[in-house]
Amino acid sequence: MRIVIAEDDPISRKALETTLRRWGYEVIVTRDGKEALQALSQPDAPRLAILDWMMPEMNGPDVCHELRNTEEGQYFYLILLTAKDSKEDTVSGLESGADDYVTKPFSMRELRVRVRCGERIVKLQSELLAAQKALQIQATHDALTGLLNRAAIYDALERERARLLREGGQLAVVMLDLDHFKNINDTHGHAAGDIVLKDISNRLAHASRSYDLVGRVGGEEFLLVMPTAGLDGAIEVAERVRRIIAETPVDIGEKALNVTASLGVASAQILEPGITMDELVQSADEALYRAKEGGRNRVESTRKSHSMC
Ligand code: GH3
Ligand code: MG
Ligand code: MG
Ligand code: MG
Repeated sequence: MRIVIAEDDPISRKALETTLRRWGYEVIVTRDGKEALQALSQPDAPRLAILDWMMPEMNGPDVCHELRNTEEGQYFYLILLTAKDSKEDTVSGLESGADDYVTKPFSMRELRVRVRCGERIVKLQSELLAAQKALQIQATHDALTGLLNRAAIYDALERERARLLREGGQLAVVMLDLDHFKNINDTHGHAAGDIVLKDISNRLAHASRSYDLVGRVGGEEFLLVMPTAGLDGAIEVAERVRRIIAETPVDIGEKALNVTASLGVASAQILEPGITMDELVQSADEALYRAKEGGRNRVESTRKSHSMC
């Protein structure tokens, strides 16, 4: 566990550092409030800090106050060290956002107990945050392929629509459906079908640009959302994706299977009040249908330029 300490007095600072290290903590030493705030504002900063009350540049309560005003700030455990011991001072220290305080001169035993208490809370909090993050990923991602799930990719599409309305520009979507996928399941089994879905999903994730979004919207259907892409750019990406799938067979263990996909592309720009995101996806779907009709393993697009409101 890492702890930031802030203490302007060199002797107390050294004593605090040495003691905490002896207790097994990794200590980041600062000499005033400004330095402490800087150390605590780093990405991946320690979550526990012991701050002296009186310090030059910025005092302990001010550090607490500043930190609590940030979004990340609520997840720190802050202990104030204070020579002040009137009730009023204590209350104002806690009001600044500190979690606890230790009155100087303090006994090492007392400090140890309070630091341990902070450590417990920091650990609990980080476990909660990790669980929350895992749940969030579970709720927005497809378990088999790790891509965004249907709800999440449609949410992203709505966000893109809002962005377009605000900032203007264009947006393209590509609907992809694997060809004769049922045959793969029927011939090689459902497990082999799953391997193919995972492999193709990996290819999709790597083939698209970093700001494109890829979701699995049905069994063997995928939707690519390409912010800022026009129709021609999107057709180019779709063609590249088609080749990446068709050119390399999927290894299912005992053999490698040739897999192809059909793709439909549609794009939207802000021109005048017009279509919704559903209609844009519908256009891509229609283009995909034409690709299937045209013999599969191909890209079709909706040439008509869309407007949207
Ligand atoms: P087309 O070229 O017209 O798209 O033919 P297709 O066989 O791909 O289309 P169809 O819709 O008839 O079949 C899709 C198949 O995808 C049927 C279903 O069993 C399979 N499928 C859907 N979800 C999964 C899944 O999670 N895993 C596996 N292995 N198969 C799935
Ligand atoms: Mg001081
Ligand atoms: Mg399908
Ligand atoms: Mg299919």
